Amino acid sequence: MEIHGISKTFSRFPALKNVSLQARDKEFLALLGPSGSGKTTLLRVLAGLEQPDSGEVRFGGEDFLALPVRRRRVGMVFQHYALFRHMTVGQNIAFGLSVRPRAERPSKDEVRARVADLLSLVQLEGLEKRFPAQLSGGQRQRVALARALAIEPRMLLLDEPFGALDAQVRRELRRWLREVHDRAGVTTVFVTHDQEEALDLADRVAILKDGELKQLGTPNEVYENPADPFVFDFLGATV
Ligand code: ATP
Repeated sequence: MEIHGISKTFSRFPALKNVSLQARDKEFLALLGPSGSGKTTLLRVLAGLEQPDSGEVRFGGEDFLALPVRRRRVGMVFQHYALFRHMTVGQNIAFGLSVRPRAERPSKDEVRARVADLLSLVQLEGLEKRFPAQLSGGQRQRVALARALAIEPRMLLLDEPFGALDAQVRRELRRWLREVHDRAGVTTVFVTHDQEEALDLADRVAILKDGELKQLGTPNEVYENPADPFVFDFLGATV
């Protein structure tokens, strides 16, 4: 994925200023930065929820932003992206499959098999008939991830998916998320303001401040060779 010169202004406030960065195929990229740095806005541009003022995204040889949202095939998990309360875990996961274009819609048997595979991938076997209210916060986010993966996304967009969970659960889910990503093999963009989380999880980290990209590199590169005093201070705050 190549992001070229994305800018976005909200009533004269520049949320993104000419941001360019690349993610390799199936890479796990973290967007890291303090509150208000533009991370969510960039994710929303990729998801088709926000129209940038300028810039381009190339993905799989296509002009990604020109594609209708459905054809982008992105899976999303947000911090407060609630599950459907009146649907069971299994129905929540299957939901994404039922809204696919008719020609791509799987049969009932295929849906059942796919839900079973996903439940096993996110380690929630046996909970298919439960309702969201009967799950812990961590389990709910795992269902949300299974739902996002159900459509076999080309790109997975995660916005502080563990933000509402306590530190211990966050740490457990971190390792687990990385394993799920590696098994699913999908280009992933993960938004966080938690330096430790980004450095621990990602193949590469893009550090944003005030809508500008400050540095893009592997966790080692940005930690060992911070591009400027801001990156140095921001990453130094973890230890
Ligand atoms: P956080 O970690 O707090 O979620 P962030 O890095 O994700 O922050 P964004 O949510 O992308 O930051 O917001 C970047 C800036 O753009 C903020 O100053 C925010 O107030 C502003 N902004 C975002 N969306 C809108 C909007 N719809 N209207 C006006 N301003 C907006």
